[in-house]
Amino acid sequence: MNEMMRFMRIAGFCACGFLLSAGCFLEAQATRQSSKETMSATQDPLAVHNSSIVIDTHADTPQRFVDEHWNFTDPLNGGMLNFESAKKGNLDAQFFSIWVDPGQYASNASARRTLELIDGTLEQVRRAPDKLALCVTADQIVAAHQKGKFAVLMGIEGGHSIENSLGLLRDYYRLGVRYMTLTWSNTNDWADSSGDIDNPAIKHHDGLTPFGKQVVAEMNRLGMMVDISHVSDKTFWDVMEVTKAPVIASHSSARALTNAQRNMTDDMLRAVAKNNGVVMVNFFPAFIDEQWRLAWNAQKPERQKAQEALEAEYKAKGLPVPYAASDRVDREFAEKIGRAPFNSLIDHFDHAIKVAGIDHVGIGTDFDGIPVPPEGINSAADLPKVTAALMARGYSADDMHKLLGGNLMRVFRAVQAAQEKTPVIAPGQGQ
Ligand SMILES: [Zn+2]
Repeated sequence: MNEMMRFMRIAGFCACGFLLSAGCFLEAQATRQSSKETMSATQDPLAVHNSSIVIDTHADTPQRFVDEHWNFTDPLNGGMLNFESAKKGNLDAQFFSIWVDPGQYASNASARRTLELIDGTLEQVRRAPDKLALCVTADQIVAAHQKGKFAVLMGIEGGHSIENSLGLLRDYYRLGVRYMTLTWSNTNDWADSSGDIDNPAIKHHDGLTPFGKQVVAEMNRLGMMVDISHVSDKTFWDVMEVTKAPVIASHSSARALTNAQRNMTDDMLRAVAKNNGVVMVNFFPAFIDEQWRLAWNAQKPERQKAQEALEAEYKAKGLPVPYAASDRVDREFAEKIGRAPFNSLIDHFDHAIKVAGIDHVGIGTDFDGIPVPPEGINSAADLPKVTAALMARGYSADDMHKLLGGNLMRVFRAVQAAQEKTPVIAPGQGQ
């Protein structure tokens, strides 16, 4: 409908210019209604957002389940993600990050902590079976969505969790883990991390070791997504050479805009596109806003001192530092800097899409793992703002369906299609 016709309809005229008769009025109303429907399907950002299956590939909430005995259906209480905020923001599926702090847990105690975090996440589903569904395939995410349930998925953040054992990797798969980030900020025995690549005191491997390549091959065989967030540049390129399935970056932004070592260069973004994978944009201000990153880095010595004091305090009690306590320190420092502009986040989506293409970008918030999100984002309830901002920059409803969840579903399906027919024997099988 052109502007003049729209004006005439609104003003009470038929297209022919006469004042509306009753019949004509009804017809005009019907036209208005259908044009509204067309608009809601294609242009209204909230309708587009709410008609998508929205998937976030990274939130560090499991530590709250275990350390704070906090439940997903509880009020937020300082967090960024819970059942209510997910419903409000139409978040349908969450990959919960199973992250073992290598500074707090000895390398030979990583598996125990990993198992506890997995249990803490599975317990959420047991306690609220009417609201939550444990999902291990893309089809199960769709089925949960159709039943109005929130899809709970798991990814391990940091290859140190497998304690150099492919058997443990298979065990985690049996328990429902569907991606693993090859490293966290720490280089492990078989893969270099971007987090300590400049530290000469750390033994590095020039990327992936032969065992590291076996880990990737075993993940391909299992149908577990290989996550290249956090890894060093050389590890990334080694993975791209050996993986037989698409990869994900579960929570990574663009280095061309914000010079964080763990952000992805444009060449990496293009390589993930070529691999048919997906890069999920991280919301952490230090990864999306250069000024914020510099301010955060400038605080590092002071912040580390505060963290070390906390560690000494808990060490004296013979306890690991609870996540809430170290998070509180980071939040206090982040507050001194203030919030990063919301548009910085949108710039990263925009850039990643322009470089990698709309089929290769998604959302990896890092909620509950970052001390503060950017301005305007306080919890999962604010996710529709991302859709609105991207549509205001010209992205279509189709584009948004892909970015909000479609791309991740495609990769998840491709990875599982490439898995071996019976990747593991689990209880109940092999009769
Ligand atoms: Zn991370």
